[in-house]
Amino acid sequence: MNNPYLLLTPGPLSTTASVKQTMLRDWCTWDDDYNLGVVQPIRKQLVELALCGEKESAAEEYSAVLLQGSGSFAVESVISSAFSADDKLLILANGAYGQRIADMARVHRINYGLLTAAEHEWVSLEELNQALHDDPAITHVALVHCETTSGILNPLAAYAEVIKAAGKTLIVDAMSSFGGIEIPLAALGIDFLISSANKCIQGVPGMGFVIAKRDALAKCAGRARTLSLDLFDQWQCMEQGHGKWRFTSPTHVVRAFQQALAELAEEGGISARVQRYADNHRTLVDGMQALGFECVVSRDKQSPFISTFKYPDNPAFDFNQLYQRLKQEGFVIYPGKVTATPCFRIGHIGDVFPQDMQRLLQALEKHRFWL
Ligand SMILES: *Cc1c(COP(=O)(O)O)cnc(C)c1O
Repeated sequence: MNNPYLLLTPGPLSTTASVKQTMLRDWCTWDDDYNLGVVQPIRKQLVELALCGEKESAAEEYSAVLLQGSGSFAVESVISSAFSADDKLLILANGAYGQRIADMARVHRINYGLLTAAEHEWVSLEELNQALHDDPAITHVALVHCETTSGILNPLAAYAEVIKAAGKTLIVDAMSSFGGIEIPLAALGIDFLISSANKCIQGVPGMGFVIAKRDALAKCAGRARTLSLDLFDQWQCMEQGHGKWRFTSPTHVVRAFQQALAELAEEGGISARVQRYADNHRTLVDGMQALGFECVVSRDKQSPFISTFKYPDNPAFDFNQLYQRLKQEGFVIYPGKVTATPCFRIGHIGDVFPQDMQRLLQALEKHRFWL
């Protein structure tokens, strides 16, 4: 079946026919065909991707845990599994996903503090330094790499340097960036990195994953605040059962994810994918600016994954009308989430190419009803 429209959203996103095709077969979760043929190779490949060609010894240090559910389930699995009663979490937040980590900490009664910035700005390094210096109780720092709220790409390497120099455990929500940009985990000292199937890896929704240092995972033993999201138990089950999931595995999603990983490699790996996303992004932003749209995030801070545009300064502009017209033309775009500025978003990840961006721009030009 053909898709009625292209998803220009930050996930779920448009996937290839070959990824969808793999879901036509059923799997037995007790069988080696699945555990050894699908789950274990995925776990190994995720660690390889996360090391970005760093020395092989680093591969021993890290392990990947797959989890049922959407990306937030995987984030919550880390947040609800990694803290003892004495620990304190500092969260850097410049958007909804940073705030969501704070919501999780609150629900699980974890002691936490927040450092915030406007949604189009970075949390300052000086403030981070100061906060770590002022509050020695802080044991962990959590931050979002690409804050999908605006599409801003936060300066992960600079933050990681400060956080690791201070000896803190580093948790990174790389949901909308992992697989779409190189993140050398060992070099950055990342303890827990969280992402999901349906973003830059271009799989279908239904599972997330955590790539973590083995010693950080080991410390989670007995700390979980929920049963289903117990990261340590999930990890132990996968390690000892050689790819076995604790509870029902989303088998079709996992098999599709394996195919998506193979297609990432076929494309030329992360470096080739970054290039395509960057081309999509440049084509889109150049065209949008030519049409009079302004970006919310400055170019130096903008990720190649999703872009946010201000509503045109014209009362005749109506997002819903634009949305419906573009949908009829075969494109689904995304409402804005930045609180201070009326805006909308266009994603450029997934099975999407610069020529799709060109077609979208032509559709936009045709439907400029507000001018
Ligand atoms: C998509 C996303 C999530 C998870 O969202 P779900 O809807 O639970 O899949 C978390 N953080 C970021 C930065 C995201 O982009």
